[in-house]
Amino acid sequence: MTQPTNDQILNALREVHHPSRGSDIVSLEMVSGIVVKGGNVGFALNVDPDEAERLEPMRKRAEDAVRAIDGVLSCSVVLTAERAPGGRGPAAPPPDMGAPGAGRQQRPEVQKPLVPDCRAIVAVASGKGGVGKSTTAVNLAMGLAASGLKTGLLDADIYGPSVPRMTGVSGRPTSPDGQRLKPMEAHGVKIMSMGFLVEEDAPMIWRGPMVQSALQQMLGDVEWGELDVLVVDMPPGTGDAQLTMAQRVPLAGAVIVSTPQDIALLDARKAINMFRRVDVPILGIVENMSYFCCPNCGHRAEIFAHGGARGCAAQFGVELLAEIPLDIAIRETSDAGNPIVVSDPESAQARAYSALAASVAATLRDRGGDAMAAPKIVFE
Ligand code: ADP
Repeated sequence: MTQPTNDQILNALREVHHPSRGSDIVSLEMVSGIVVKGGNVGFALNVDPDEAERLEPMRKRAEDAVRAIDGVLSCSVVLTAERAPGGRGPAAPPPDMGAPGAGRQQRPEVQKPLVPDCRAIVAVASGKGGVGKSTTAVNLAMGLAASGLKTGLLDADIYGPSVPRMTGVSGRPTSPDGQRLKPMEAHGVKIMSMGFLVEEDAPMIWRGPMVQSALQQMLGDVEWGELDVLVVDMPPGTGDAQLTMAQRVPLAGAVIVSTPQDIALLDARKAINMFRRVDVPILGIVENMSYFCCPNCGHRAEIFAHGGARGCAAQFGVELLAEIPLDIAIRETSDAGNPIVVSDPESAQARAYSALAASVAATLRDRGGDAMAAPKIVFE
């Protein structure tokens, strides 16, 4: 099947009119960043942030118009609040990360809660990819759910959404009212991921504002229902996109995942500074792949000079929440869609995650007064 051309897409979009500006979205130069791969189409519509909510039907019409083109298998449109260079819009936040507390930015007033019935949104973040952030987020969410908390898991790692694979959930979310998506569910956790919405090999070139807009939709346009805690698996890194997200999402706190190597810790420091700059409390650090336990003889080897995170936590005055071993069962279970917290809850590895969940829940309760319901956490 031939894939649609940019011209075909733009022609289809000329049929989509802005509700009040008297012209179509192509003539108004609202369309940008068209990406086409094997029938999967993605692009952004640049809108005034104040208009975003009102323009949601227009975004849907744009998606429908492109889906109707021969050869289009899927279409994903995000509203971005990016303004033309030199415009009056909010300046992109600076990418450099200063010392803790330096250049602190105010979090903007949250006008309307994106997830109104959620008591606490917790970000799981890392300074770089591949350190086990998603594995931690998934096991943390499952651990929180196992402790009796109503839990959601949002895979905001749109560059490489791995939550569908790690939770064994596939398929597309449905929308009973045509307006909002129903989250998927696994092991008692409500789950939403960009991986459910775009084809796995569909490349999306995400610019900062698109990331923010996609995340806001995944928060606000999903029927999360009543949640005690929503765990957000953040995109790795500390660039503009992450900073903007940390700023825009009303986060109760952040859990920073790091491996023990110095270089990863350096990245972890950047991540800590990033959240501090936008006044998001750091709930603590998780040292992942902290040490290795030989599955045959039980010998414990500290391959990566274990303990670096403890020093980093002490230096930053934050808690070391957990030290998770480098362990083949953790990798096998998470890559097979059956996280260790649910597949082998009595194992030492699962208990490490359950303890992490207990610390996070306790910290949230302490910080939020009685905002969090007292969980029933049972572990020896
Ligand atoms: P990130 O989200 O930081 O990119 P992932 O969570 O996707 O990292 O993990 C990268 C890979 O490492 C995955 O294959 C995962 O199963 C594996 N992994 C993560 N944590 C551990 C661990 N503690 N022991 C063994 N393998 C792990």
